[in-house]
Amino acid sequence: MIEIVQNLCPADRYPVKCPFVRTPTRLVIHNTANDASAENEISYMLRRPEEVSFHFAVDDRHAVQGLPLDRNAWASGDGHGPGNLEGIHIEICYSLSGGPRFDAAEQNAAKLAAQLLRQFGWGLDKVTKHQDYDGKTCPHRTLERGWERFLAMIQGEMAEEAPEENRLRALARQEIQAVLGEMALAPPAAWAQGALERCRAEGLLVGDETGDLQPGRFVTRQELAVVLVRLLERWEP
Ligand SMILES: [Zn+2]
Repeated sequence: MIEIVQNLCPADRYPVKCPFVRTPTRLVIHNTANDASAENEISYMLRRPEEVSFHFAVDDRHAVQGLPLDRNAWASGDGHGPGNLEGIHIEICYSLSGGPRFDAAEQNAAKLAAQLLRQFGWGLDKVTKHQDYDGKTCPHRTLERGWERFLAMIQGEMAEEAPEENRLRALARQEIQAVLGEMALAPPAAWAQGALERCRAEGLLVGDETGDLQPGRFVTRQELAVVLVRLLERWEP
């Protein structure tokens, strides 16, 4: 997991920096062509008066987020096109001079990209580059070193965190089953006791194979449909 520090655009600046609410459909990768840290890139982006903006800057330490993901950015030079309106824009810092700081920033950007792909349930095909939208040579250093190489880094990060994610998923599943089990075993509430008995007596609810109505359990749509049909059959001549 990469640390994400937030320094979000104040709402009164939305009209300039991110006027549109949208659902993101892709990532767009950039290089800053600068030698500033992620904090400085984001605070400068927020400060400057122009319609220039992006969601994340990533350096050798962490990612800094400047815009909410459900709003657009002005970053890929395609006006109201899919880059600006649908992209989550990630700037990789220190690309001007390159070197170890840039190497680390690029690796962190791969981590962030992998994290976002998982979060949105997207595949590697959702990773695009600024160049795809207006032809600009951006992310310049990442392109120079090989775009396919960068995609492979993202894929590596996704594989890296998959076992941990599977472990957390299994834990969450166990927790949910435990909670549902406790609910099923809970005794009926006093206010519902009469209604439960009546439903059983009328044959509307029959419970499980032991006859237990499990009053605290959720009803599925198929169970509800069976009960509704029992009612309908009584009303129909
Ligand atoms: Zn760019």
